[in-house]
Order: sequence, then C-alpha cells, then structure tokens
Amino acid sequence: MSPSGDDREGPIECPRCAIPLKEETVERLGPDVQIDVCSKCGGTWYDRGELAAVIKDRRIANAFTEEPIKGIMGPMACPRCGGRMRVREDWGVEVDVCTSCKGVWLDLAETEALEAKVERTLEDEGPQQKREPAFYRALDEFFDQ
Ligand SMILES: [Zn+2]
Ligand SMILES: [Zn+2]
Repeated sequence: MSPSGDDREGPIECPRCAIPLKEETVERLGPDVQIDVCSKCGGTWYDRGELAAVIKDRRIANAFTEEPIKGIMGPMACPRCGGRMRVREDWGVEVDVCTSCKGVWLDLAETEALEAKVERTLEDEGPQQKREPAFYRALDEFFDQ
C-alpha cells in the first residue's frame, strides 16, 4: 500500500452495475477532488483521503474512515482492490468502506444524505462557524495563492 495515495490504476468498475466508473472533478462542499462516478446508478467511489477532502466537516469525514473500520460485513467487493467492504452507518448515512484500502463507496442517495447532513452540521455550529459553501471556496482560493 502506497502511503501517498496517488497509486491510481485507471478505471475501476461500479460494484453495483459492473460498468467502468468515470473520473469526475467534484466541487461541492470543499476543494476540487477527482472521484470516480457511475454514470448509470450515480454511485461514487472515493479513494482513501478523497472523502475527507470533499467533506469539510472533519468529524464526519473521519468517522467514516477512522480505523478500525467498524460495521457489518457487506456483500460488495471493493472496486479498487477487491478487498472486503464493511457497511458503516453514522448519522443515518450508510457508506461502504473497504477494510483493506480504506476507499469509500457511496450510493447516490447516500451522497445526498451526507451532503444534507454536512450542511446541517455546519449550520449547527453557531454563528461563528456558519459559513456558506461559497465562502469556503473563496477562502480556499485565498489560501491557495
Ligand atoms: Zn453503478
Ligand atoms: Zn479496497
């Protein structure tokens, strides 16, 4: 396992539809990240670290990928490495996490549930922490310069 996380090996297949995933750059709640998306079912694959890069809320991002990976063994094999995946549920959002490469699979409905949860959490932080996604993007661009 490479510690850098940039050992991408080209297209991987959707664990649900068995068709190649398309690489897509997302710009949703945080900085742009390249993820793999299924054009059929809308599911998304995040290699290790990519989910944390997309989700601003560290507690939520870390909860899904912290070790040991908890949850029940799922029926899916990891699309990246073929390892066993566990179904992990937090905050009413169900994700499939690979116990081997720590990649995360999200079905479309789970992506939407997770985004809604993250936005709600940011609002719950109070006036000091309340920030619109556009504000975060501006902030990121500012610090990138
Ligand atoms: Zn699919
Ligand atoms: Zn894996």
